[in-house]
Amino acid sequence: MELHVAWLYDDLLELYGDRGNMSVLKMRCEKRGITLHIHQYSVGDQFDLTVMDMIFIGGGSDREQNIIYEDLLARRDDFVTAIENDVVVLLICGGYQLMGQYYKDLDGNMLKGLGIFDYYTESSRDRMVGYIGIDCEIDGRTFQLIGFENHGGKTKNVTQTLGKVFAGHGNNGEDGHEGVLYKNVFGTYLHGPLLTRNPELADVFIEKMVRRHHTDFMITPLDDTLELGAKQQVITELKSENK
Ligand code: GLN
Repeated sequence: MELHVAWLYDDLLELYGDRGNMSVLKMRCEKRGITLHIHQYSVGDQFDLTVMDMIFIGGGSDREQNIIYEDLLARRDDFVTAIENDVVVLLICGGYQLMGQYYKDLDGNMLKGLGIFDYYTESSRDRMVGYIGIDCEIDGRTFQLIGFENHGGKTKNVTQTLGKVFAGHGNNGEDGHEGVLYKNVFGTYLHGPLLTRNPELADVFIEKMVRRHHTDFMITPLDDTLELGAKQQVITELKSENK
């Protein structure tokens, strides 16, 4: 089995080790005999998103978002086609923000988003920084996800959020929700890297990618005793701090 992921703007949108998400997916695929081809593209590159099984965009400072957003806008039609074809899309923070209507940065620059979602983001001086935990439901299964957030952007008007915050700030530090979830699109503020801290989510992505080719595929679990033990320790600490 061969899978393909397009890692976009890998040289610019890669805050807090978001590249780790690609390493984790590759390793967890290889342990199952699946080859994950990671295609790295950036501003000005020619590429076709519709032949991918997954698209990944990491986080970035306002400066990097300003550099890439016009290039990203030019890819809108391919993004829409990929999303409707159930391509898995993982968007972290800055990447997540740019899928909405706009991102207004701290200097007041209005970065037009792809407008694929109705939400919008406006930056604020009171940055939302720290460990974060959310309760979420994906395809009828409940998960707790943990990570690290660092954003000034407050994202509002999200129709279907990824989860509810039990620790940290989330989309805007006001409504208690975090991220966006639509079909196989996962937008989130969780750095960490996300998939190193939440191996179950990595397997959700792998299973979804394979099912685009073999609809009856059921992923076999790996021995995640250590990873899940470390995760539970963080959840316990976050919950005790947020009683
Ligand atoms: N620059 C954006 C903000 O400050 C995104 C930050 C990030 O990707 N961590 O909200």
